Amino acid sequence: MTNDVLVLWEVLIACLISAAVGLAIGKHKGRPTAGFMLGLVAGPLGWLAIAVGPNKQPKCPQCKGVVVPGASKCKNCGSDIPLKA
Ligand SMILES: [Zn+2]
Repeated sequence: MTNDVLVLWEVLIACLISAAVGLAIGKHKGRPTAGFMLGLVAGPLGWLAIAVGPNKQPKCPQCKGVVVPGASKCKNCGSDIPLKA
């Protein structure tokens, strides 16, 4: 393998790791796709952007616990979750 190909692989692997980390952070924010894309194109800056960005994960209005997106009842306290318009 020539050095050029080796560098190409390193960049490719770095991008994949970057995207995977972005995906992991995005999952916590309820925005896995955005995290993946930002990590892929912007690397550590993308992680930062997704980490400080808005949290799209739905929260229970009663207990403030994280609920499953699309769920109508909170899994923590059982109260109704109003659907967002
Ligand atoms: Zn709740």
